[in-house]
Amino acid sequence: MAMEHVTTLECTLCGETYDPDQIIYTCPNHEGVKGILEVQYDYDIINDRFDQPLDGVIDSQWKYRAFLPVDDDADPITLNEGGTDLFDTPNLSDELGVDIRVKDDGRNPTGVLKDRATSVSVTKAVHMGQDVLTCASTGNAAASLAGYAARAGLPCRIFVPGAAPEGKLAQPLVYGADVLAVDGSYDEAYDLSMEVTEEFGWYNRNAAINPFQVEGKRTVGLELAEQTKGDVPDWLVFSMGDGCTIYGGWKGFREFYELGFVDETPKMLGVQAEGASAIHDTFHDHDDIDEVAETVADSISVGRPRNTVKACKALEESGGTSLLVSDDEILAAEKTLGSAEGIYAEPAGAAPIAGVQKALDQGIIESDESVLAVVTGYGLKDTKSAMEASGKPQRIQPDLADVNALYGDERSSSQ
Ligand SMILES: *Cc1c(COP(=O)(O)O)cnc(C)c1O
Ligand SMILES: [Zn+2]
Repeated sequence: MAMEHVTTLECTLCGETYDPDQIIYTCPNHEGVKGILEVQYDYDIINDRFDQPLDGVIDSQWKYRAFLPVDDDADPITLNEGGTDLFDTPNLSDELGVDIRVKDDGRNPTGVLKDRATSVSVTKAVHMGQDVLTCASTGNAAASLAGYAARAGLPCRIFVPGAAPEGKLAQPLVYGADVLAVDGSYDEAYDLSMEVTEEFGWYNRNAAINPFQVEGKRTVGLELAEQTKGDVPDWLVFSMGDGCTIYGGWKGFREFYELGFVDETPKMLGVQAEGASAIHDTFHDHDDIDEVAETVADSISVGRPRNTVKACKALEESGGTSLLVSDDEILAAEKTLGSAEGIYAEPAGAAPIAGVQKALDQGIIESDESVLAVVTGYGLKDTKSAMEASGKPQRIQPDLADVNALYGDERSSSQ
C-alpha cells in the first residue's frame, strides 16, 4: 500500500472504519455530513521514518512529511507553508499582564494557517488525478485553495458568501479561480458546494468533511511542540470557526508528546465570537444553540460548525476550555497586538488575544501561567474592519504649518 503509515479512516460518531485510499468524505451511517472521519496512523512506522533534528529550524511543514497522509511517491504542491515564526512578545505581555508568546501563522503563503491543509489536500488531489478543485469558504480557504490550485495548474471553483470582505474575494480572483459569490450565508454556500461535489465529482477541500484537511493543520501543533520544547506553555490559544484548526493544533502537539519528543502538553483555550458561539455552547452544555452567525471576524463566522466533535475533544483531552469575546474586544485586540508588537492580524487572528484578556479577567488563566496564542490570518485581508479598530488617518494640507500644529511642542522642546 502506498500510504503504509495511514491505517484507517474512523468515524468520530460510530467508530466504523474505512479504507483511506477510497475517496470518502463522511460516514454514510449518519444524516448529512455529521459522520466526521478521523485519520488513524501507525506511529511505529512514522517514528521509524521521521529522522529530522528537533532543533527549531523549520523551513516548511514538509519537514514533517512522515506524519502527513500523502503517498510516498506524491510530489508536494507547496509554496513553503509552515515554519512560521514564534515570537517572544514582551510588550504584549506587559499590556496583558501575563507571559505570552505569539506564533504568527498569518505569514503563510496566502496569509492564513489554512495553507498547511491546502498544500496537503492539493498534493493528494493531484496525485489521485483529480481535475477540478472546489470548496466553500468564509473567504480564506477559498483564497488558499485558489493559490495552490494555480500552483498545481488545476481549475478551481469556489463558493463564498456574498458578504465576504473584498480583499478575500480579490485574492482568489488574482489566483485565477472562478469565484461564485453565493447570495446567502456561509452555511448556505457550504451546502451548495456539497451538492455540487456529488453532482459533478469535483475534489472538495472543505476542511471539516475532508478527513485529510485537518491532518495538514496538525503541522502547526508539531511545530509548536518543536519550538517550545523545554518551555511548553500552560495554555495554547486558537480561535474556532468550524473547529478543525484547534483540533489539528492539539492532535499535532499530542503526537509529539506521545512519541516522547516533548514532556508536556498545553491546555487548549478555544475562542469564539459572541455572535458565532456554537462550539462553545456545545462544550458548556448550553440548551439553545444559536445557528445564526454574525461577527466582524468573518473567518470564524460559522453558524453550524462541522467539526464540533473534534474541537470539543481538543478542549476536553487537554484539560482546557472555551470562551466568547465580543466584536469590540476582537477589534481592540487587533489594535493592541499591532501596536504592541508589529504583528498585524485579521479579526479572527486577533480573537485569541481578546480571549486571553478575558480568560485573565475571569480567572481561567492565572497571571503566573504562560500563554501562547496562534494568529491564524493576516491583517491586510480585511482592511475595512481594521479601520474600525484603528481609526482613520489624520488629513492635513501639504504645509509645514499643519505638522507644526500637531507636533510643534516637541520641536521647540528638542531644540
Ligand atoms: C478558518 C480560520 C479560522 C478557524 O478555523 P476552523 O478550522 O474553521 O475552526 C480561524 N482564523 C482564520 C484566520 C481562519 O481563516
Ligand atoms: Zn459513523
